[in-house]
Amino acid sequence: IKRKHSGQDMSIFSEMSALAAKHRAVNLSQGFPDYETDPRLRKLLGEASDLHYNQYPPMGGLPVLRENLLTFNRQREIPLQLELENIMITPGASYAIFMALATVLEPGDEVIVLEPSYDSYVPSIETNGGVPVYVSLKDDFTVDFEALKNAVNAKTKAIMVNSPHNPSGYVWTQSDWNQLAEITTRTGIFVISDEVYDILTYDGNPFYSAFHHPDLCERCFSIFSFGKMFHVTGWKVGYVLASAELLAAFGRVHQYAAFCVNAPAQYALAKYLEVFDVKENRRMMQHKRDFFTESFAGLPFSFDQKAGAGYFQLLKLEDTDLNDRELAFWLTEKAGVAAVPLSAFYRDRQKTGLLRFCFAKKKETIERAALNLKKFF
Ligand code: PMP
Ligand code: GLN
Repeated sequence: IKRKHSGQDMSIFSEMSALAAKHRAVNLSQGFPDYETDPRLRKLLGEASDLHYNQYPPMGGLPVLRENLLTFNRQREIPLQLELENIMITPGASYAIFMALATVLEPGDEVIVLEPSYDSYVPSIETNGGVPVYVSLKDDFTVDFEALKNAVNAKTKAIMVNSPHNPSGYVWTQSDWNQLAEITTRTGIFVISDEVYDILTYDGNPFYSAFHHPDLCERCFSIFSFGKMFHVTGWKVGYVLASAELLAAFGRVHQYAAFCVNAPAQYALAKYLEVFDVKENRRMMQHKRDFFTESFAGLPFSFDQKAGAGYFQLLKLEDTDLNDRELAFWLTEKAGVAAVPLSAFYRDRQKTGLLRFCFAKKKETIERAALNLKKFF
């Protein structure tokens, strides 16, 4: 079978989690919570099946979930202007990214990827016949709009955006979106915008969706994940916001791939949205981030800034000749703490010296990781 993409045979997240398990290391690599899922959400899942949400739901999503997402998105801190026809439920965000690419790409179309980028983008582009074109983010993970402008040409079909950014936690400002809109206006270029950490912004950082932008909303797919929103990464349910026209095109592909999404989960997520407290959730996560940076304070790691959003903190180990991949393996095997090497987010696995640690963990897990490292150094 012909290889369709240039991604690693095993994703870095599977690789590091397997290595952590092998060495019984504290796993701060793959981004998943180890704390309890809200009992209310768990109860709703059981209830859903008892209420007979056990058969195929409509292709675009369970009506109650789409209705509640409509309300939720209209009541955001920065409200979105949308109607039911702008919402479609998907089996997770990665699937939605893949399907958005499958919807718009013709063989040979170019898609701009901002590096470092989440590991699924390039394989998804290539599998769908596209050609990735790379533009490096600046050292502080902001966008080099001059370089982005230079990368745009007649073959550019789409641009991948990820805000809040995994791995750095950088959140796009309104000015960033305006610059992107300016560069792409009247080009018809699509924006595939991965916004899975939308509600997890810290220190009062405002979140702007691509769908909030008056020009971009016509040609973007804004993609979200309940996995990160409600800390249930194993549920694999997400949603897309796009114009009615784009969603109809998306649906024409999606209905012959997954067709629809797990009905009991959709019911539980819909009902949980009615009681979910966004601010409390954000406070909890910001507290985890701060607890993580405080716990690692006495160790030989440094960081340029605390993560502005998301699940991850980037750290640099001082005084080492090891590259980031060697470091990640060494710390997992010898110190008993697993993290993700940042090089995994670059096409040529460019060595960076930076490691990504997941702080979406119980207090005891973070304490145990810090203790292991203190014993080691
Ligand atoms: N995009 C980014 C940036 C992510 O970090 C993740 C992991 N949550 C995903 C997409 C995948 O989301 P899902 O599990 O809903 O497919
Ligand atoms: N999004 C998670 C991360 O960045 C991993 C998801 C996966 O394992 N594919 O760590």
